[in-house]
Amino acid sequence: MRNLIVDPFGIQEILRVTLDLRSELKTKFGFSEFRPGQEEAIRSVLEGKDTLAILPTGAGKSLIYQLPAAIQTNKLTLVISPLIALMKDQTESLLAKGIPAAFCNSTQDEVEQMTILAKSVKGEIRVLLVSPERALSNGFLRIFRELDLFSLVVDEAHCVSQWGHDFRPEYRQIHVLRERHPRPNFPILALTATATERVQTDVQSSLGMKTPTVVLSTFFRPNLKFSVKYPAAERDKADRLIELLEPWKDGRKFPGRAIVYCATRKKTDEVYDLLKDFGFSVGKYHAGRTDGIRERTQNAYTSGKVPILVATNAFGMGMDQPDVRLVVHYQVPASLEAYYQEAGRAGRDGLGSECVLFYKAGDVATQTFMLSKETNFKGGDTLLKYIKEYANKEECRQVQLCSYFGETISPCGSCDICTEIGANLHRSKFLKTEAAKVQKKNEKRDYPLSEWEEETIQNFLKEHPAVFGKTIIAKTLVGKRTKDVLRYRMERNPFHGKLDGIPEEAVVAKLETWVEQKKVLVAGAKYPKLYLPNFAKIKSKATSSNSDETGSSNGKVKKPPTLNSQILKELMNYRDRKARQLKWKKFMVFQNPVLKRIAERKPRSLSELEATKGVGPAKVERFGNDIIEILSKWNE
Ligand code: ADP
Ligand code: MG
Ligand code: ZN
Repeated sequence: MRNLIVDPFGIQEILRVTLDLRSELKTKFGFSEFRPGQEEAIRSVLEGKDTLAILPTGAGKSLIYQLPAAIQTNKLTLVISPLIALMKDQTESLLAKGIPAAFCNSTQDEVEQMTILAKSVKGEIRVLLVSPERALSNGFLRIFRELDLFSLVVDEAHCVSQWGHDFRPEYRQIHVLRERHPRPNFPILALTATATERVQTDVQSSLGMKTPTVVLSTFFRPNLKFSVKYPAAERDKADRLIELLEPWKDGRKFPGRAIVYCATRKKTDEVYDLLKDFGFSVGKYHAGRTDGIRERTQNAYTSGKVPILVATNAFGMGMDQPDVRLVVHYQVPASLEAYYQEAGRAGRDGLGSECVLFYKAGDVATQTFMLSKETNFKGGDTLLKYIKEYANKEECRQVQLCSYFGETISPCGSCDICTEIGANLHRSKFLKTEAAKVQKKNEKRDYPLSEWEEETIQNFLKEHPAVFGKTIIAKTLVGKRTKDVLRYRMERNPFHGKLDGIPEEAVVAKLETWVEQKKVLVAGAKYPKLYLPNFAKIKSKATSSNSDETGSSNGKVKKPPTLNSQILKELMNYRDRKARQLKWKKFMVFQNPVLKRIAERKPRSLSELEATKGVGPAKVERFGNDIIEILSKWNE
């Protein structure tokens, strides 16, 4: 009976572990609370279950293996990590907590490596960090069989997946380790910040995980303000970057750190030079630099001596600083995961920080090209597709990012879309109606006036030289009854409504053109009054006289109208009236030369009319009778 209770993974055991976890966290690590996901994942590992922890960068994934390693006393936690540069630091911090730890990678010589492995076999080391290359070397595989493993940890586990942004071919072989181990009953703990469905399933199947506990915490980062800028040119980007770096301008203050990510080394160099020229304290980091220089840059950045870093994606993984206040992507990254991971380096201390993406179509082409060059890599277009969508969709940036990772959240309230969408929509709607108004107005201004209509305007001016401005003239002619028209009693003027149906704007435009051409002159500066050059002094008060006649009676160089021109005038009137009725363009009814021809020939019948050049049967059918009727006056 007793034996049944003494089950290492029984309830009693779990309770004991649970109770101890918090005090271990406090005593060994000095933290009073677990962060989201940590405790759940730790408990799963302690129960011996395969565990996949998908927690955002900075969430504290290392603790998930470190705490169990600190609790249990005699087995080895083997950690595979691609971050060779960080292994030394991580080892030292574990040692500082009293956890026997060591690392094993290509930075050490053969003897060093063998010594460490021997210690591990003897059980003198509790946490061993190894690079994937080392872990899968033949030498290591032989010794590995001797290790008494508590757990196998795969850090940055997205490196398993081609769909992750950081694919490492050796990661695909990791499953071999458990398969070859004589006592394979240890759990695999996979840690990553990348949670697309695809990467997730890839990690599980490639590592050979058995029904793992999946711990997934939120990707929502309430303290980050995401935004996208759409610079039209490289010059634009430079200007905007300088603006964004304003807080760093004064070198004496330390406003936190800033990272500027570029897609290429060339661009990294360029932006670095630019910022140097502007006097910023800035470093650069890319794979093209020597290890020594890279390390120095990294140190200067970490120590805060150089607060701004221009870098390719070679920088970042694991080198996080809590006070990154700004992450700018000067060019689009290769995927949305990469973007989230890199942008997510901002504000890890929980304080407000900004993530700005510069989106330019040309840069997408650059990325597509670079991705297509990587022969191993398929699906570059697909990855970029999401970046394009992210930049172009009018949806909360964080909602988009989280939904990409399979998480549904409410709008963040702080991204550019959340804060500007109202304003933007309003603005674009406003612009649309404004544009429509302007277009309509222009259309009206462009309305072509017939000769007769132009003459009517001139006749008005002859009749009322230097009395009115263009607005009242236009309003009167088209027959408006607005206040100013009524004030001058122009509604009683014989010209009132003579151009009924013509847009007021067309008359105004015509007057403006004439003023420009000096065909019409302006008197008075404050209230410009219009007059015709030869009619300035003839101040006529005969508002009741027939203007059509006065038009020809005055001294302007104008022949008295011939019969044909009178017929033409009438035909044009008819044409214009029809065009207005039908809402056609005038030329669609009849073009001026055709009307001229008709006026000259004065056809008496429909067939005669149809014989006129430019008059087709359709026109005859529609307008024929009217035209014959107009002509009949003269034909009789
Ligand atoms: P990740 O690997 O998820 O990016 P790390 O494991 O590097 O994150 O941890 C990030 C930082 O968070 C470290 O400085 C770590 O000490 C700290 N941290 C981890 N867990 C806690 C906790 N429960 N409370 C406070 N700080 C924590
Ligand atoms: Mg980590
Ligand atoms: Zn938002």
